[in-house]
Amino acid sequence: MKRISFEFFPPKTDEGKTKLLATQKKLLVKNPEFFSCTFGAGGSTRDNTRDMVNKLREQHGDTAPHLSCIGQSKDEILELVNGYKESGVTRIVALRGDLPSGMGYAQSEIKYADQLVTLIREETGDHFSLEVAAYPEMHPEARSFEDDIAHFKRKIDAGANSGLTQYFYNADSYGYYMDALQKQGCDAPVYPGIMPILNVANLLRFSGNCGADVPRWLQSKLNDIKDDDAAVKAFGEEVVTRLCERLLAMGAPGLHFYTMNQAGPNLRILDNLGL
Ligand code: FAD
Repeated sequence: MKRISFEFFPPKTDEGKTKLLATQKKLLVKNPEFFSCTFGAGGSTRDNTRDMVNKLREQHGDTAPHLSCIGQSKDEILELVNGYKESGVTRIVALRGDLPSGMGYAQSEIKYADQLVTLIREETGDHFSLEVAAYPEMHPEARSFEDDIAHFKRKIDAGANSGLTQYFYNADSYGYYMDALQKQGCDAPVYPGIMPILNVANLLRFSGNCGADVPRWLQSKLNDIKDDDAAVKAFGEEVVTRLCERLLAMGAPGLHFYTMNQAGPNLRILDNLGL
């Protein structure tokens, strides 16, 4: 059985929240292990994430808040973590997060995700399943691929259970990443993050920001059809389905979908895969 999970971001409006609950309901048909809900940089969606997770948990008990440590004090982090424990949350996606512009690292007591994992384990023992981020194409700030592998391993050694990757469109990067982890004695499961292709401009902008590579051949084909929404969606579905097929054939233990708060594109990819 391959593990499937779906990631959302917290909508700002009541209408968006109602729509997201309907989306979650549609995705339930795929029997996901968990849903997750992102956390804005520097705690900017702190309350929104917590409230949305509570609502999503009414439909699926295993809904995990993302929690990023950067820009938050230790007390603020612990308040959230203990609140989640009390309300019955059993999984957290533990992250460093990205800095809001103008904010220095020095202002954060907990600077890296491995420190956050350690803090959560010290405070709550084995209560939570902890997911952490992994970067088959290397995190943009990492000094080297080896350094980044070592940082991922540090998060696992600190007590994280598994990795969720940044999205990518080159299956080989995942294979090399998993080989490199294994050579370092790290055999934690790492679930590829899957980004459906829905809009060319958004994809290219977002990929530039987070350091995900959209290969030249793919950019070129997408650019040719970028004004035809239906063509982008059909081609994107084919490309991402093939990517998933390769990843699963390479032994990926499951898939984590960046849903963009939509059900249809993710469901179609999973249908194509027979999952
Ligand atoms: P870390 O694991 O701490 O690594 C950050 C960088 O520091 C890496 O380059 C690493 O190599 C380096 N590093 C780590 N430890 C050390 C050390 N001791 N010394 C020197 N360098 C070190 N962002 C959000 O704001 N909200 C979200 O909800 C969110 N969800 C995400 C979900 C997934 C599945 C993924 C893959 C990313 C998500 N992000 C989110 C983005 C993430 O926060 C950024 O990529 C961020 O820049 C790094 O976070 P991290 O947890 O990987 O950091």
